[in-house]
Amino acid sequence: MTEKKKTFIMNGVLGLQGTLFILRYEFVQESESSLLYKTQKQRMELDMLYVSTRNAAEKVTASQAILKGLAENGGLFVPEQIPTLDVPVDKLQDMTYQETAYEVMKLFLTDYTEEELKDCIKSAYDDKFDTSEIAPLIKAQDAYYLELFHGATIAFKDMALSILPHLLITAAKKNQVKNDIVILTATSGDTGKAALAGFADVEGTKIIVFYPKDGVSPIQRQQMVTQKGDNTFVVGINGNFDQAQTGVKQMFSDPELAKELDAAGYQFSSANSINIGRLVPQIVYYVYAYAKMVKSGEIKDGETINVTVPTGNFGNILAAFYAKNMGLPIGKLICASNENKVLYDFFTTGTYDKNREFILTSSPSMDILISSNLERLIYRIAGDNAQKNQELMRTLQETGSYCISEEMRARLKDFYGNFASEEETASIIGEIYRDAGYIIDTHTAVAAAVYQKYKKETGDVAKTVIASTASPYKFTRSVMTAIDEKYSDRPDFELVDELQALSNVIVPKAIEDIRVASVVHKTVCEVDKMQSVVREFLKMDA
Ligand SMILES: *Cc1c(COP(=O)(O)O)cnc(C)c1O
Repeated sequence: MTEKKKTFIMNGVLGLQGTLFILRYEFVQESESSLLYKTQKQRMELDMLYVSTRNAAEKVTASQAILKGLAENGGLFVPEQIPTLDVPVDKLQDMTYQETAYEVMKLFLTDYTEEELKDCIKSAYDDKFDTSEIAPLIKAQDAYYLELFHGATIAFKDMALSILPHLLITAAKKNQVKNDIVILTATSGDTGKAALAGFADVEGTKIIVFYPKDGVSPIQRQQMVTQKGDNTFVVGINGNFDQAQTGVKQMFSDPELAKELDAAGYQFSSANSINIGRLVPQIVYYVYAYAKMVKSGEIKDGETINVTVPTGNFGNILAAFYAKNMGLPIGKLICASNENKVLYDFFTTGTYDKNREFILTSSPSMDILISSNLERLIYRIAGDNAQKNQELMRTLQETGSYCISEEMRARLKDFYGNFASEEETASIIGEIYRDAGYIIDTHTAVAAAVYQKYKKETGDVAKTVIASTASPYKFTRSVMTAIDEKYSDRPDFELVDELQALSNVIVPKAIEDIRVASVVHKTVCEVDKMQSVVREFLKMDA
């Protein structure tokens, strides 16, 4: 007797009201001897399609959107509809992180088979994370800190970047891609290392990371320039993050370059948070956190919670917005900025204006003047109108600012924006340490400070989850000096040991590793030389 069941999959296409749906039927042969195939699950799935925020006619499947990264004319892919969470919380509350991930991601990535998706999840959320909970929830004072920094590089980018390479490689196989995939990334610090760690030595891929030479923390820099793997390449640029990002975007949308790459057996893809394969995995932990709060009795099933997110490129908070739109009981989405407070100004005035001084802060991963993922929200509040969105984005490109209509502003009710100064950020780190014995990093501190402002302003006492986006060990100097000025002139690695003594949290492996690793990436270039550097690395001019 064999237990093995044979599965047959049949695809069909159905046109409905001008939209193409791809249908999938699964037939399962129940036993060797049965002559009839049953339609197990009796599942007729409508594949979720992704549409460009700048061109309503550009529609692709999930795997194609992940493969392309960016849509044709600089647009971003968004799901045509946000699916509804179809598992009740009383089931979710007993699920592992991996099981929750499957329940959420299967609704978005409908052209991945169950087996493919489960394999991706298994390869991503394994012992690269230092806790089987993957994303623990810690209560300190009156907030719940969702620790998203237990992965390989001790920052929240690991949550998505540990699964993206697997989603991408699977997508390439599904779409018969023969070229090697070249991941091109601009980083303000954390993305770079997390992407490098995710893609290093992944067959069929190369990864090139550009970072602002003087715009990342010493530990972030050390993490990147010591990256191992023959397929990795790390370049410092004499410029800021926005310039790095603009350079990368230009290469992505250069059709000539794409042709040359193709001839050389390459194609670009993006690991930046504009890739939908980054966004979808980030929805998971909001669902997971909510279910865990119900399980531990902190909230009742159905009770509304708020979410506070330290924000830069607007990816993490957008994932929370999608979670809310899936039906998760989230009230306010509290958007926390540092002194680069473009988003706060946007939420309070309806004008997005990047024409201002760029400030280097102690939360460098949020030092951003163009929040790329905001475009997905703009598209949404414009009534899913690609043309309207494109007009605004063109204005942004030409003038550096745009202004949304009153009607669009009215659709931003779910959001509250505020910012924390450098002083407020440092002061709350000290306060929470003294009061609760809990040490948070500078990015998380921006969120904690903004949450306090929100409470004071509104009196809202709903339970609140704060996305805790980096380990304090990643920003040791700023964190320790915030606790006590006396640490300000001590060497970095000495401070690591002091932090361990204060926090009783052991030094993460990611930090131990770079103490001894040697520097392997020494390239530095001017902003206008980024393309030549890429050609050189890929040996395209040879
Ligand atoms: C990337 C990052 C952020 C900002 O997240 P976005 O999704 O870009 O808004 C905040 N904190 C840390 C530590 C980060 O690495």
